[in-house]
Amino acid sequence: MLSKLFQAIGSFFRALFGGGSKKPTSPPTTIEPANPNLPQDGSEIQPDTIIIVANETDPIIIDPNIPDKEFDDDVADPPVVEDPPVMEDPPVVADPPVVTDPPAASHKQKFLWCLDNGHGKLTAGKRSPIFDDGETQFFEYEFNRDIVARIIKQLEEKGVAFFNVVPEVKVGNILEERVNRTNRKKSKLPKLFVSIHANAAPAKSSKDWAPASIKGIETWYFHNSKKGQKVASIFQKHLIEETGFNNRHLKSRPDRQFYVLRKTRMTAILTENGFYNNKAEAAALMTDEVRQQIADAHVKAILEIEENGIS
Ligand SMILES: [Zn+2]
Repeated sequence: MLSKLFQAIGSFFRALFGGGSKKPTSPPTTIEPANPNLPQDGSEIQPDTIIIVANETDPIIIDPNIPDKEFDDDVADPPVVEDPPVMEDPPVVADPPVVTDPPAASHKQKFLWCLDNGHGKLTAGKRSPIFDDGETQFFEYEFNRDIVARIIKQLEEKGVAFFNVVPEVKVGNILEERVNRTNRKKSKLPKLFVSIHANAAPAKSSKDWAPASIKGIETWYFHNSKKGQKVASIFQKHLIEETGFNNRHLKSRPDRQFYVLRKTRMTAILTENGFYNNKAEAAALMTDEVRQQIADAHVKAILEIEENGIS
C-alpha cells in the first residue's frame, strides 16, 4: 500500500517538473559524503578533541601477564563467509617441477601485516587544493596506494607475510569492509594492522592551503594499548629518521578513536605521513624520492618488529 502511495507521489512530482519525460538522468554522484560518526583519520579531528601525545622514545613496558586492550569491547564477530568448496581429490601431479632457484624467502615470518590504504577514489575530499599550474592536485587515495605498493614490493622480496586489505581503487568509505576483511582474514601468524594516510590541517576551505606551520608526520594507536604504542613508536622513529619531516610524535584519543583502530581485533596503528594541504609538504609528497623514503621507513619498522617481536 505505502509503496504504491509513494510511487504515485513520485509520478505526480515527475509530471509536475517534467522529470518523467526526460531520459533517465546519469547515476547519482558517486562521491560519498563523509560520515561524521566514523572518524577515518587525522584530518577529521575537531579542534576540541582531547588528544594524548606520547613520545616515541618513551619506554613502554609490556607485561605478558596483563592483557592488552587493543580494540573496542563491542566489536562484533566478523560475518561468516562460506569457505570455498573442498576439492575431493587433488589432481595427480606426475613429477613436481625441479626448483632451480633457491627459495626467495629465508625470512622467518612472525606476523601477517595487514596493509590498509585508507580511502578510495570515490571518497569525498581527501585531496589538496589545486597547485599554481591550475591542474596539479594531490589525491590521498592515490598516495596511500602508492606507498602500500612500494611497501609490498619490498615485503615480497624479503619474504614477509602481508595482506593488501583493499586492492580495489574505485571504492568509497568502506571502513566496515576494511575492518571485516581484516578480522576474518585467516592466518596462522598473528595479525598486525597498519593504515597508511596523509593528513590535512584545518583551512579556510578545501580550496585554500593550510598554514605552512602545520606539517610533519604522526602515528596513531588504539588508546591505552601498550602494544599499539610500541608498534607506533617503531614506525614513527623510522619515519622521522628516513624523511627528516617534522616530528608530531605518537597520538591517541580517549574518545571517538579512528574506526579502524577501534574495530580491528588486533594491534593496529595509523600513520599520517605529512600534510597534503600544506603547499610545500604536498609538493614533497608528490615526489618519487619522498614516497620511497616513506615506504622504506614502513619497511624498516616492519623488519624491526619481525626481528624483535612486540614484547
Ligand atoms: Zn586519510
